[in-house]
Amino acid sequence: MEIPVGMIFRKMYCRYCGERLKRHKATDVYTSSDPNFSRTMKIRSAGHRIVNIGSQTSVTYIYKCPNCNKQSTYDEQLLFSKIQKRLGKKILSDDEINN
Ligand SMILES: [Zn+2]
Repeated sequence: MEIPVGMIFRKMYCRYCGERLKRHKATDVYTSSDPNFSRTMKIRSAGHRIVNIGSQTSVTYIYKCPNCNKQSTYDEQLLFSKIQKRLGKKILSDDEINN
């Protein structure tokens, strides 16, 4: 999983408290019994049974506020940053986001 380029160069600010956000690497591990487990990780055995091998790790990058611990995705934060720019302030209410 690559980091989106915008995540490296853009400065993002928390919409709850205005603090500069930090990138956070979120790792999910799926086991073979998990429905999200990729079919490509399954191999056919000689007896034509599907055999699951190991577990699969999914890595995504999110933003995390060091001040209030709120988390947001890159897509969400892109939207927030546009509104923050338009309104000229960092802390946004739910109404300001939905308008
Ligand atoms: Zn915050």
